[in-house]
Amino acid sequence: MQDNRNGAQQESFTEHSALQRLYLMEVATLPIPPAGLPIPCYLLETRDGKHILIDSGIPADFVSPPGMPPAQHGKNVVEQLAMLGLQPASIDMLICTHLDVDHTGYHSQFTNAELILQRAEYEIACSGHPRFASTRQQWDHSALRYRLLDGDTELLPGLKVLKTSGHTSGHQSVLLQLPRMGKVLLAIDAILWQHSFRPDREKELLDEDEAEARASTIKLLEVAEHEHVALTVFGHDGQQWQTLKKLPAYYE
Ligand SMILES: [Zn+2]
Repeated sequence: MQDNRNGAQQESFTEHSALQRLYLMEVATLPIPPAGLPIPCYLLETRDGKHILIDSGIPADFVSPPGMPPAQHGKNVVEQLAMLGLQPASIDMLICTHLDVDHTGYHSQFTNAELILQRAEYEIACSGHPRFASTRQQWDHSALRYRLLDGDTELLPGLKVLKTSGHTSGHQSVLLQLPRMGKVLLAIDAILWQHSFRPDREKELLDEDEAEARASTIKLLEVAEHEHVALTVFGHDGQQWQTLKKLPAYYE
């Protein structure tokens, strides 16, 4: 009985995805050689016309980390959604991969959405960790509705979040299934760049816990192999980003 149910769930993830399109947005770039450091967020469209945003980019008053050049701002997430005729109220779900400043700049706009976050991330941020302080007025806004998760969770058929702590305590990555392309893994900041996608990776910029970051990397390497992932998108890889389609183009 147990085995049948698990089998049915696996089949529903691979065969009957609720998703239709994936859009990639580059809301800003830090001009670092050789290819720049993109600040991305992502939009999913479901077959029944719902919209799921993943992260909300950097705020207009973003201050680059020490030693890094100032950001070159492009269209922010609200302006990019408007290119598709969408408003913040059109967003039904906001997956918050983690609460770093470059991922939470416009969260308070999405008051119509259910916000999806790992409980570990929410609790450490609410406790006053200075890392998450600069956008607290965005992610800790009284009008926001959170659904807190404890680990890997299937949100819809064809859409899962995978807990990948290490960069932050409650970081999560996203695995999704598109009708034509197949599976896409959004590693987010669990894997910042392609060259870190290996089991012996070292501590990266702003990683909270090196051993956990390495364990999460191994977890995602296994997911990519076992799930036959067609595309893995890395968190801030400027060279990869130059090869990817960006909104208004999309993956389907
Ligand atoms: Zn980041």
